[in-house]
Amino acid sequence: MQTRPCWVEIRTRALEDNFRFLQSLAAPDVELLAVVKADAYGHSLDLCAPAVVRAGGKWLGVSSVEEGLKARALCPDARVMVMAGVFPGQGAAVIEHGLTPVVWEPAQLDGLEAAARAAGHRAGSLPVHLEIDTGMSRQGASLDSLSSLLPRFEPGSPLRLEGIMTHLYGADEADGLATQQQLDRLQQALGRVESAGLYPDWLSVGSSPTLVGGMSATIVALAARHGMKAMLRPGLSLYGITPLFHPDFTPPANDNTDVGEPPSLASAHRQLQPVLTWKSAVISVRTIPAGAVIGYNGTFVATEPMRLALVAAGYADGLDRSLGNRFSLLVRGQRAPLAGRISMDHAVLDVTEIPAVQAGDEVVMIGSQGAETITAYDHADASGTIPWEVFTRIAARVPRIAV
Ligand SMILES: *Cc1c(COP(=O)(O)O)cnc(C)c1O
Repeated sequence: MQTRPCWVEIRTRALEDNFRFLQSLAAPDVELLAVVKADAYGHSLDLCAPAVVRAGGKWLGVSSVEEGLKARALCPDARVMVMAGVFPGQGAAVIEHGLTPVVWEPAQLDGLEAAARAAGHRAGSLPVHLEIDTGMSRQGASLDSLSSLLPRFEPGSPLRLEGIMTHLYGADEADGLATQQQLDRLQQALGRVESAGLYPDWLSVGSSPTLVGGMSATIVALAARHGMKAMLRPGLSLYGITPLFHPDFTPPANDNTDVGEPPSLASAHRQLQPVLTWKSAVISVRTIPAGAVIGYNGTFVATEPMRLALVAAGYADGLDRSLGNRFSLLVRGQRAPLAGRISMDHAVLDVTEIPAVQAGDEVVMIGSQGAETITAYDHADASGTIPWEVFTRIAARVPRIAV
């Protein structure tokens, strides 16, 4: 069946190349956990999780047990980490499907222990990663709570402390001060883990900016001081988007404080390939006279005759409504401005200056056409958000197609 023309193309080969490139960028012996939460950042878990495994990835990171079950069905041999919490009643599914939970609350340990015992699990047979709150105040155990949490991993417990993780809240801040503070607190936490006689395998710290910004060797060194191996958790960069740093590394000319872009960031700019292209089509073309209004509330009034192209994409597809009258899409290799408000299922382009446009022409919303490109950062800048949100709000009704 022909479908409504609004779809996403996923280049799984680019994803594989990105994974291998990121692996080469990391310090030797760094394990990469590929973050495929939220349907692989809207890129389709079905398409992306197997691609990561084909590229040599051994660990997948998901948000929830629900996502973990999908990842497990797709990738029977991968380690699947549930990063945003196991909820009451989900312990049995974690055990049955061999998921690896991140934990930080006593109640999570209670639930997992009970489920493991009910399933007849031996001591130390359920690996868990303990998250430490080193400063983000989101999830993770406080340093003070470690004295009561760590004894829970006594030798008779079915739980095994396999890893220590933390999440950095300012890894894209070029001065690195917030990260340094967080790593200092992490080091204190690692001291307490050691004093408790626990020796986890993994130290899991850092996402795309940590890796692409060239910080992986720092994590490796910290891990090695505690007899651990380093794990980094890239998400955005896997999908081919190089994270921006604040402020960026290119200061004004003649500024001799120029530290320049780290070499790893420069090579990421050259090597990472966007995985996702978001397309639609022109479904009709009309001419309107001067004085006609376009779209809801007539926010656009034609001051001269215009040609308009109706596009089969609206805010229910994830095209942010705030882009109306202030963004352009690509048609016939040129930028055509969005005229009037974006509707639920439609957007209107001003194609007065692109006279050949006709019904059936492909429209690119994210990606390249001819010599022009629209990036997820372009959408993010225009609608006041970040590429992560631009990707994850592309609606479920938009089919994802491997190309
Ligand atoms: C989302 C997430 C990541 C990946 O972050 P990116 O900036 O997309 O690379 C890593 N770790 C945790 C805990 C996350 O929630």
